Amino acid sequence: MNLKQFKRRPAAEKEALAAFLQKLDEIVPDEMPQLVAEEDAKMWAETDCLSCANCCKKMTPTFSPADIKRISAHLGMKPKAFKDKWLYQEAETGDWMNLSTPCQFLQDDNKCSIYEVRPLDCAEFPHHNKQPFDNYNDTFTQNLSYCPATYNLVQRLKKRVEREYEW
Ligand code: SF4
Ligand code: SF4
Repeated sequence: MNLKQFKRRPAAEKEALAAFLQKLDEIVPDEMPQLVAEEDAKMWAETDCLSCANCCKKMTPTFSPADIKRISAHLGMKPKAFKDKWLYQEAETGDWMNLSTPCQFLQDDNKCSIYEVRPLDCAEFPHHNKQPFDNYNDTFTQNLSYCPATYNLVQRLKKRVEREYEW
């Protein structure tokens, strides 16, 4: 699914995927890690992040203190100057986030200009490798609105679980 198709997806389908993730909060097949690994590999074989970059366009990563130190040093800036220029601190969580979207480091070719030192949050996105997978259902539910890769993975998992399990 490319970004154009993703933007045209039916609302009812997204709701059905969110309901599947919600149910996964209560019932988790024993083989879930294996199912996720298999379907994730198939999904990535047909997903091209460089033709998408929707996460960098529409979402903000969280910048940890270590990220801020590493990235500001890479740019030859002081951490305070880096924060003053591009970030704000969320009152509720204390997390440092981008002031605006798209991300200031996203280039016209959809590549990241600080790729080697990008925030850990970006390096781990879309977090499909997190264990156990179902602990992150809220994150995946939120990302159904932003990330074609997560959308495609959850579609695959739903089909597979409904076909192979009684639940
Ligand atoms: S991780 Fe998801 S939103 Fe980001 S570029 Fe890849 S498919 Fe697009
Ligand atoms: S730092 Fe790079 S990978 Fe992270 S959101 Fe910005 S452009 Fe995307």
